[in-house]
Amino acid sequence: MKNYIVMDLEWNQGSPLTENPNIPFEIVEIGAVKLDENKNIVDTFDSYVRPQVYHKMNVMTQKVIHLDMEDLEKAEIFPIVMRKFLAWCGEDYIFCTWGNLDLVELQTNMRYYGLDPLSDGPLKYLDIQKLFSIVYSDGRSRRALETAVDFMHIEKNDMFHQADSDAYYTALIMQQMNRPDVESFYSLDVFHLPKDAEHEVHAKFDTYSKYISREFETKADAMKDAEVYVFRCFECGKKIKKQMQWFSLNSKNYYCAGKCEEHGAMRGKLRVKKTENGKVYIVKTVRSATKEDIDELVKKERKSKVQAAKLAAMEQRMRRNRSGRKKKLF
Ligand SMILES: [Zn+2]
Repeated sequence: MKNYIVMDLEWNQGSPLTENPNIPFEIVEIGAVKLDENKNIVDTFDSYVRPQVYHKMNVMTQKVIHLDMEDLEKAEIFPIVMRKFLAWCGEDYIFCTWGNLDLVELQTNMRYYGLDPLSDGPLKYLDIQKLFSIVYSDGRSRRALETAVDFMHIEKNDMFHQADSDAYYTALIMQQMNRPDVESFYSLDVFHLPKDAEHEVHAKFDTYSKYISREFETKADAMKDAEVYVFRCFECGKKIKKQMQWFSLNSKNYYCAGKCEEHGAMRGKLRVKKTENGKVYIVKTVRSATKEDIDELVKKERKSKVQAAKLAAMEQRMRRNRSGRKKKLF
């Protein structure tokens, strides 16, 4: 039986002088609500964490989270709280969070203390803030938790920005969204990238597909990889004929268009992402395209060709100037 673990964290941070780059945000509270597969609340978890890095409450943080150092100093340290928390989570569960930050900070703190990783690759979770936007808004905007609580007429009996109450509010929102297909809108946390080609992510969603590559040394290496540049129909996965090659206007995002015989016009986007250690990985999405989408891409591609031509001409001029100077020496 699978549980939903709705989790919320509070964290403290240092000042520019005291910040430790290995743990810029130190978790000081873990709050969570456990829901069963029918989304009934079955248990709660709440624990402060005794700080080991930042022993002074950051001024900005203090304004938001209403926690005193004194309370925290009585708590247990992160590795112990984390062990208890994971035991409480059980065997089969999916994390649910408001936004995409909590899992990043959780795993950064775990790594700092040398704890076993949560997963050996991208981790499936539900971003309730994103789901709220998909169900009630445009899917792109992101609202504050309190805004969503007001929108759903949930009683506000507890203060916000406390891990236990924020987790509880988030759990109520999830319950009341009442979407049986809620899990089809899952997110992927990439704190741990796919460790090799075999473990790369090929996820299919309702309206698009998503590919997450392993880590490459350089962007050039990534762009040479067949699985990176292949263009497949998001619906049937068949290789489709490209109407244009991948092109870019800023060398971070690449675009492409083509047509599946069966499923029509498609557009692809390839994002080059940097890892913490300066390497790169690729996130590729493919979705259906309207005629307007394709026209737009054709225009953009033309622009990228003009850009490339200008750059080539400039380089040639520079080369000529250099060789010109050399000649004068003799
Ligand atoms: Zn197809």
